[in-house]
Amino acid sequence: SNETTVLDGDDLARTLARIAHEIVEGHPDPSALVLVGIHTRGAVIAQRLQQRLAALLDREVPLGDLDISFYRDDLATRGDGGQDAPVIHATHLDGVPLEGASVVLVDDVLFTGRTIRSAIEAIFDYGRPDRVQLAVLVDRGHRELPIRADYVGKNLPTAVAERVNVRVAEIDGRDEIAIERR
Ligand code: 5GP
Ligand code: MG
Repeated sequence: SNETTVLDGDDLARTLARIAHEIVEGHPDPSALVLVGIHTRGAVIAQRLQQRLAALLDREVPLGDLDISFYRDDLATRGDGGQDAPVIHATHLDGVPLEGASVVLVDDVLFTGRTIRSAIEAIFDYGRPDRVQLAVLVDRGHRELPIRADYVGKNLPTAVAERVNVRVAEIDGRDEIAIERR
């Protein structure tokens, strides 16, 4: 196929372990820590981080999720001069303690930054966190907004026409990150 594997299952496990440790390092007082995953695979990654943080911190970090995506899922047709915008399909933040929180947003891939911008807006519709950080498995470049990730699994410089395939066992039957050339 026209796919190149860049991270296998073991790599992904190590990467998530490192990010969990970095989040712990960034939170000397973890009591205000909250995770918010971006549906679909970002939410799965957030669950994995929640499990790892439970082991490291001996506490359950509150977890919410946001379902945000572009109307047109095809990345190739997405960039039309910034007129295209992500849509919030659903928010699952009820009962998530956002006031004064240190929120770590979690997504699989960071690209233009527009999804994260919408996620930040949605979070502030629900509450007033003290701080919002971002954890992504892959930063593929091509930012269109001044957004960066605080915790990065892997920087993967890509062409716009390429796609990063993120596979997680819960959905895809195996853990893997691959670059697909189209
Ligand atoms: P952005 O809003 O930063 O342009 O795109 C990020 C969102 O679109 C993320 O929620 C991510 O799931 C999805 N996305 C963008 N590019 C890719 C990609 O190459 N691979 C995958 N799996 N998702 C992508
Ligand atoms: Mg997404």
